[in-house]
Formats: sequence, structure tokens, C-alpha cells
Amino acid sequence: MTALAKIVHTNPEIEAEPDLTDGFHLVIDALKLNGIETIYGVPGIPITDLGRMAQAEGMRVISFRHEQHAGNAAAIAGFLTKKPGICLTVSAPGFLNGLTALANATTNCFPMILISGSSEREIVDLQQGDYEEMDQLAIAKPLCKAAFRVLHAADIGIGVARAIRAACSGRPGGVYLDLPAKLFSQVMDAEAGRNSLVKVIDPAPAQRPAPEAIARALEVLKSARRPLIVLGKGAAYAQADDAIRALVETSGIPYVPMSMAKGLLPDTHPLSAGAARSTALKDSDVVLLIGARLNWLLSHGKGKSWGEPGSTKFIQIDIEPREMDSNVEIVAPVVGDIGSCVQALLDGMGQGWQQAPSDWIETLKAKRDANIAKMAPKLMSNASPMTFHAALGALRTIVKERPDAILVNEGANTLDLARGIIDMYQPRKRLDVGTWGIMGIGMGFAVAAAVETGKPVLCVEGDSAFGFSGMEVETICRYGLPVCIVVFNNNGIYRGTDTDPTGRDPATTVFVPDSRYDRMMEAFGGTGYHVTNPDELTRAVNEAMNSGRPALINAVIDPAAGSESGNIGSLNPQSGIKKKK
Ligand code: ADP
Ligand code: MG
Repeated sequence: MTALAKIVHTNPEIEAEPDLTDGFHLVIDALKLNGIETIYGVPGIPITDLGRMAQAEGMRVISFRHEQHAGNAAAIAGFLTKKPGICLTVSAPGFLNGLTALANATTNCFPMILISGSSEREIVDLQQGDYEEMDQLAIAKPLCKAAFRVLHAADIGIGVARAIRAACSGRPGGVYLDLPAKLFSQVMDAEAGRNSLVKVIDPAPAQRPAPEAIARALEVLKSARRPLIVLGKGAAYAQADDAIRALVETSGIPYVPMSMAKGLLPDTHPLSAGAARSTALKDSDVVLLIGARLNWLLSHGKGKSWGEPGSTKFIQIDIEPREMDSNVEIVAPVVGDIGSCVQALLDGMGQGWQQAPSDWIETLKAKRDANIAKMAPKLMSNASPMTFHAALGALRTIVKERPDAILVNEGANTLDLARGIIDMYQPRKRLDVGTWGIMGIGMGFAVAAAVETGKPVLCVEGDSAFGFSGMEVETICRYGLPVCIVVFNNNGIYRGTDTDPTGRDPATTVFVPDSRYDRMMEAFGGTGYHVTNPDELTRAVNEAMNSGRPALINAVIDPAAGSESGNIGSLNPQSGIKKKK
């Protein structure tokens, strides 16, 4: 049934004027016309009926318990599909709850649209105290890529089109769409309404690089003795998997994947230098960045993680021209979309391209093999309670056996160690805390990963990280999603062993000792497991993943095993006041 027919048949009062539509239906029709099939959100005033009607019109509407998680779901849906993920929230508080996810999406270059209902402009602008009064558009603006408000039903089509283009084109990001309550009930002629909708043609147009830029990049690459490719999550997002693989293999250049680019080529690929990352960064002379920014995660391209100042030349492929020279000089900027740029490099290399020098490949291979060998015994201990390494060793084998499962990962030690230990084999299978290192993405990402891909999801969560979105296990159970959560329970943040020096309260970093997170899952009808050694962990994860049903495994980790802030402890400021001896 069309939107129009529904109004006609359900409202006898307007039987006399059959050809009408309204704001609710125009929003739904505009999204559907643009191939958007799923909305993530939390219902409430004024968007409850929008969710109901969207569901009735055949859209998938996934309701969460908190907007931040709905927003995170929308953001990662955008990353996985290259279509903007939609998050729908109520006004002021709901909008603010969604805003963290919108800002995080923008920071990570994920296309997403936050649609929030809002109060009446006339009252908000005169600050007369409306229900949930807030100037949402003004607040959203600095935190996202673009923000729009639609006041007239006839503009909904254009508003949605602008939001989609802003989210997907160029560097993707978060967009805010403000829909005041009054808009939804505005009625207009149905045919005029249909004609007002816009199907966005080619929302992310190819941006082909300039031939000079490609020639310059190839010149620099040719001169390299120790070249390196760094693959970032932009490369994963671009879905140019075959071209990227061909570039690595044709050039014979070793590569280091950033966290969410793992699996773009399998981590076990002979040219993977992931396990020799420090040596690769420090000793390389030419680095080709593909969809990776030289931000804090790459030590800004300078300092002790890299060679002597000026000794590393950077070539950068990015769709955002202003990314060039953001931290250090880029000698060969290649501005364009990754698919086009990588293909142009490949074409330029032609047949007889001289592969990267074998002594450099051998150096990295030796380093990689040594690091892997050093790690191996730590991964094999079956002691109880488990170390992070032993528990991750078990999960590493499971991911190897189930390469199409999606791994969601957050925490401190749980994150840093899992990133290094768990090999990935397929593109876009590792979803994690991204550029901000944000905690709380876990359940939102897990829900969207399952909904968007239909694949099983394995969520590896620190106990603290899990707490940010833990209530969404109810959402996972409600929709019966194939999500297996493993909570690495070490009784606290970093470690579970801190104490309050005054003896009054628990330390700031500890939780209730020996908590049973598995029972949270049981409360909603999922399966809970409590495991204390890697063998039990392996059995539980396999059973859970074979079932295809929601499960949570409380994995007891030695409370003394973790280190402060995982791998990034050096970012903690030190007290300027010297302790008295
Ligand atoms: P990582 O954290 O994995 O290093 P970043 O998020 O820092 O990755 O970098 C991703 C980069 O990829 C951003 O600079 C973004 O502009 C770029 N990018 C995203 N999509 C594309 C695309 N399709 N083509 C080119 N560059 C892209
Ligand atoms: Mg912990």
C-alpha cells in the first residue's frame, strides 16, 4: 500500500480529498526512494509515529534503549555500506544523546544522518520555554559535516537529498537533519509531494586524480629503497579491495594496516608488515598512505616512531585535499577517490614495474617472524584466571576458523592486544573504537553489523567498555541477532587491583569484583556463559556462534594482568607535583 492510499483508507474525514500526503510519509518516501531501508533510533515525541509508519511501509526500524547506541549503529552501517546510516531521535535530550555518535562518525569519516524531531521554531527562537526547547541546529553545526532544517513538507525531498549528498560525497561524515514537530503533520497534495522528492544520482561521484599527481607519486615510489604502504580505514571504506590488493602485489611493497583496515588483505599475507610495524615505520624511506591520516595514531608522521626528520617521504592518497601537509610535508599528494587513484597508479606502473627491494622485504619478514614467535607461547597458556594473551589466543583461532564473522572490539588492554593478536582475513570485518578511541561503540556496532550484513558478530569487550552500552543486550535479544559478546572481566579499568588510599571507597578504576555479566544476557532470554580458562572460552564461543543466537560470555581475566591505558599509557599526563619521599 502506498503512503497515499494509507491516509485515504485510515482517515475517513479526508475521504473527500483523496490525493493527500503529509510530512511523515514524505520523509519515509524520500528515504526509501534513495535506497535507505533501515532506521536506527529511539522512539518518543515527536517521532514515535514516524518510526511506526516507517515500519508499516516496510522499512526496518531498529529501536534501541539509548540514542548514542542507535547513533553508533547508524554510523557503522554507513561505513559498511557506503550509504548514510540513519539515526532517528526525539528532541533536546535524545538529540544530544545522538550527537556523540554523530561527532564520532564525522571524526571517523563515516556517512551518517542524525534525524531529530525538534520543538517549534517560533517558541525556541523567542526562548519561551517549549517542551524540550533547544536550538538543535545551532548546536549540531560545529559537530558535524553539515546541518539542515526543513520547515515545509514540500522541502523534505530536497532536505533529504542534501543530507545524503553531504554525508556521502567527498570525505564522508555525519549530517544533522532537523525536523520540527509541526512538519510531520503538514499535509500537501500527494502528486506534488511525489514530484518534490529527489532521487540522488551518483551520491559519491568518482574523483579521478590528476595525471601529473599520479606521475609525481610514481617517480617518488620508483626512487624508494625501503617503501611502505599504510592502509587506513578510508581504504576499507572505499571498497576498492581488488585494486588495493593488486597494487600491493604488483609493486611488491610491504604494507601496514591501520586497525580497521586489517583484513583488506589477509593479515597472513607475505607482504603484511603488521607484526613488524615499529620497524616498518621507522626504517621506511617512502610511505604511501592510502586512506590513512597522519594523526596521533601514526605519531603525526614524525618523532621517535619515524626515522630522522626528513628521512621519510610521504605520498598520500586522500579524497580530502586539505588533509595534505596536515602534519608533515606530503611530497606527492594524490587527491581523489581511492578506487580511481589506486587504479591510476596501477595503470602507471604498467608491466615491467621493478618490485620493492628484496633485502627490505626480508628485513621486515625476519622482524615479523621474530615478533610472532615471541608472542606465541603467551597465547597458549591454559592457566586460570586467564591473561589477556591467553584469552585472545583462543579467540584468534576462532576468527581464523570463521573469517567471515565480524569482530567488534573495544576496551583498553582488550582493544590493544586484540588488535595485534587477532588476525583478520577479509575486508571490513574489524570494527573498533576508531580515531577517537571512543568507548561505548560496542553494542551499537554489533547490532548494525548483524543487521546490515547478516553475518555472525563476535564482540570482544573490556568490562568497562561493555558497561557503556551493556543495556543494549536487550536490543540484541529482542531482534534475535547472531551476536556473541565476550566480556573480558578483570574487575576494572586497566586492572582490577587498585585501592582507595584513604580506605573509604572502591578505587576509581575498579568495579564490583567477580561480576557476572553473563546473567545480564540471561535476563533477556539470551544464553550466558561463565568461563575461567581458554578451553572453556573456546567451547563457549563456538557453541554460541553455532547457535546464531544472542550470547554473552563472562571471561574471567586475571585482575593484575592489564597495563594502565593499554598501549597508550604515555598519553596520560604526569603530576607536576613531586611526591614526598
Ligand atoms: P585510519 O584511522 O585507519 O588511519 P583515518 O580515518 O585516519 O584512517 O583516515 C581515513 C582517510 O580516508 C580520511 O582522510 C578520509 O578523507 C579518507 N577517505 C575516506 N573515504 C575515501 C575515499 N573513498 N577515497 C579517498 N579517501 C577516502
Ligand atoms: Mg577491565
